[in-house]
Amino acid sequence: MFFSIMQNPMIFKTFELIVFQASFLNLVFIGKQGVGKGTYAQRLKTEFGIPQISTGDLLREEIKSGSELGKKLEAIMNSGSLVPDEIVIKMFEKRIQQGDAEKGFILDGFPRTENQAKTLDSLMKKTRKKIDLVLNFIAPDKVLLERLTGRRQCRQCGTIYHIKNVRPKIDGICDKCSGQLYQRDDDKEEAIRKRWGLYEKQTKPVLSFYKKQKKIVEIDASKEVSEIYPNIIKTLKSKKIIG
Ligand code: ADP
Ligand code: ZN
Repeated sequence: MFFSIMQNPMIFKTFELIVFQASFLNLVFIGKQGVGKGTYAQRLKTEFGIPQISTGDLLREEIKSGSELGKKLEAIMNSGSLVPDEIVIKMFEKRIQQGDAEKGFILDGFPRTENQAKTLDSLMKKTRKKIDLVLNFIAPDKVLLERLTGRRQCRQCGTIYHIKNVRPKIDGICDKCSGQLYQRDDDKEEAIRKRWGLYEKQTKPVLSFYKKQKKIVEIDASKEVSEIYPNIIKTLKSKKIIG
């Protein structure tokens, strides 16, 4: 029965449409380091049940595995440099093919170079998906620096906290899994300034790429998370991406 339906071109077309329309809310989050995109992505993930795909987290997982590749990545990331496109793209492709990404996804930290943006575009075309919207989070450097140096992350589940703004119930311990909180080496000021420099150089072209496609909206990320998150939801509604 199923196969005979699939052999009928008309029905197959309808079937295909239904399947691919079920993939909704494909978002890209862009913003300088410290703008809090990981935190907003985690909230959206909880509310809409779609995965947050963070290339930073994927790379850190590889480091945790203790592999040879992981050792190389650790040195690159601790120095504040970008990981070469071919490595990141390979990891990203593997992750996006997992079943949970069929319902939609929030890309956090990818694409970060023009080459990655182009690769993502052709990957979307191949799988008949599309990026619905690119959210560009903006805040002044002074605000970002305070956020970054105060940022702590759970070693076990990756949840992000802040020593002033998003405090765990017990200092140094994750509320969700009781894992240990730590400061990433790349959150120290020197590495931050280096990453900002790279952002200007390598990620700004990504913004131009999506501007041409008219897919960018700017989100003021200088306020409290409690104000920014509702603003994201409002923006998604105004663009008719969510109901
Ligand atoms: P941040 O956004 O604060 O830099 P991430 O966790 O997203 O934090 O990334 C940490 C590091 O991982 C980056 O500094 C970079 O070395 C590497 N990385 C993450 N995503 C990418 C990417 N798309 N391309 C190249 N390197 C990446
Ligand atoms: Zn945790």
